Amino acid sequence: MKYLSCSNIQNGLRFEYNSIKLCCFMGTNTPEPLYVKKDFYGEKLNWKELLENINTIRENQKKGITDSHCIGCFGLQEQDWDDNTKFKWIQIAHWADCNCYCTYCYRYQNEFEKPKKRYKIMPIIKELDKMGLLDYNGELAYSGGEPASLREFDDITNFFLKKGEKLIMVHTNAIKPVKSVLKGLPSDTMSVTVSVDCGDREKFKQIKRIDAYNKVIDTLKKYVKAQGNNKKMVRSKYIIIPNVNDTKQDIDKWIEETLKIGIEQVIVDFEADWLARNSDNIPPHIDEIFNYLVETTQNRGLNLEYYGVANQYRALKHPEGLNYGLHQE
Ligand code: SF4
Ligand code: SF4
Repeated sequence: MKYLSCSNIQNGLRFEYNSIKLCCFMGTNTPEPLYVKKDFYGEKLNWKELLENINTIRENQKKGITDSHCIGCFGLQEQDWDDNTKFKWIQIAHWADCNCYCTYCYRYQNEFEKPKKRYKIMPIIKELDKMGLLDYNGELAYSGGEPASLREFDDITNFFLKKGEKLIMVHTNAIKPVKSVLKGLPSDTMSVTVSVDCGDREKFKQIKRIDAYNKVIDTLKKYVKAQGNNKKMVRSKYIIIPNVNDTKQDIDKWIEETLKIGIEQVIVDFEADWLARNSDNIPPHIDEIFNYLVETTQNRGLNLEYYGVANQYRALKHPEGLNYGLHQE
């Protein structure tokens, strides 16, 4: 049936260090995201109640009533949605430990509340699997802290690999190579994304507040070598941080280094906080730099993908509605 909805409303589930959500985004006119469960630290879940709540959001959407937390979100699109209600787009972000200090990290924002306690995700995943609520034809994405700092990482990854998960997306800072990523890359079902954001050691130190640029480049080279047939599984991301890495020279350096490593897939994004503060008044210089990045990566033969905040920016620039679908199948 054709109606306005979003892949995360239909089939998304995201575990954070203190809550459960459907996704990591939010609409344009809401003070907070859409929580499925707030203040969650791994306690026993009442799935019946939770599923009823999620189904109400889906059913309302079917009737044309968008949840207020989703209104204006770039993820909404009109298409033929099927009746599959299994969770297909799983995001694991239930830990916040990391060995890096990126200036734009959510862990340094005022609203970040230090995790009250750590919880394990594997028992929850197994429970969902047992209830038949997982669809392995979608995507498992890690987007919490650093995978190298997550003890459960190998268990979770191996579980999904065995189940035949179509795509496992790992977001890592690449300061340390992760063994199961090196093991998973040849299978063509695992991708690894690293926000490098620059092309030299000094800029890296300024953005990441750690002198680890060379380590990151070494790890990326190992990952590139480990890829299977699909050479687009190792991805270098550039988060545009206004006043920090917003010159053509910054972008040129990053592109040169990316090509030297042998990476073929790049991603553009924006510093989320900056865009939220400046969405009404984006300086022309930033439009120019965004366009420059898009054109130059493509001219140099790199494959470019837009991440969530970059899509929010595109939606602001073209509200008439390009299709910014979150998941491409
Ligand atoms: S519409 Fe946006 S905020 Fe709502 S579930 Fe989809 S991606 Fe998340
Ligand atoms: S690597 Fe990720 S989790 Fe770690 S500081 Fe940077 S943004 Fe935060």
